[in-house]
Amino acid sequence: KVMLLDGEQGGPYHAWQETTPYLKKMLDQAGIFDVQVVTAPPAGGDFSAFKPKWQDYQVVVANYDVPDERWSDELKVSFEKYMREGGGLVSVHAADNAFPKWKAYNQMIVIGGWRGRDEASGPLWYYKDGKLVSDNTPGKAGSHGARQAFRIVNRVTTHPITTGLPAEWMHVPDELYATLRGPGEHMTVLATAFSAESNRGTGRDEPILMVLGFGNGRIFHTTLGHDIAALNCVGFITTYQRGVEWAATGRVTQK
Ligand code: ZN
Repeated sequence: KVMLLDGEQGGPYHAWQETTPYLKKMLDQAGIFDVQVVTAPPAGGDFSAFKPKWQDYQVVVANYDVPDERWSDELKVSFEKYMREGGGLVSVHAADNAFPKWKAYNQMIVIGGWRGRDEASGPLWYYKDGKLVSDNTPGKAGSHGARQAFRIVNRVTTHPITTGLPAEWMHVPDELYATLRGPGEHMTVLATAFSAESNRGTGRDEPILMVLGFGNGRIFHTTLGHDIAALNCVGFITTYQRGVEWAATGRVTQK
C-alpha cells in the first residue's frame, strides 16, 4: 500500500500535477502496489483537516516540496513516529528540497538542497577516489546545470535495488543535483553521476540513489525526475519501482 504524497512545490517548475500521474502509472504497471494519491493543501490552505493516516500505508512516496512552516509540529511528529515504527519513505527529486530545518526529515532524506540550506545543514557529500567523503567547505546547498543526458554509475551492485542492473547506464536529460548537504549518517550511496564543470557542475561524482534506515523505517532517495521527460527513462522506472518495494518491505521481488 503506497501513499503518493504531492501538492505545493516551489514555482512553475516541478509540476506535480503532471508528474504524479506518471509516478502512479509506473507503480500500477509493476502490478504489486495499491497506490493512493494524497494531495496536501496549497500554501495558505487549510491544514486543520490534513491528517494523513500514515499507518495505513507501507510506504510514502514524496513528490512534495514545501517550507518548514507549512506543517505543524504535531503533523511532523506523526510522520516521525510512523517512520520510527517501520514505515517507508521514497524521496523523489525535489522532495529533498523540502523542510530544510526539520531535523528528523533531514535525517531521513539524509542530504538535501535549496530553501536556505548551507553549511549549518551539514557537510557536502560526494564520491572521491571510489569512496564516499564528506566536505565541510561552507556554502549553499543545491545546484544543477542545464538538463542533459548523463551516465549513472552503480557503486553498490549487491543491494536489492541495484542487483542485476548494468554497472553503468545513461539517464535521459534531467537535472543532475549537486552540492547537496545533510547529516549523511548511515546512508548507502547506491549510484553516483559525474557533475561536469562544463555544465556548471562540481567536477565530482555526486550521489544520485541512496538508501538508509530511520528507526525501524526504510528510505530510498532518488535525486532524479525533474519532469515528465526525465521520468521517461527505463533506468529511472526500474530503480523507482524497486526502491518503492524495498522501502515498503525490505525486499525486491520485481525483475
Ligand atoms: Zn528539478
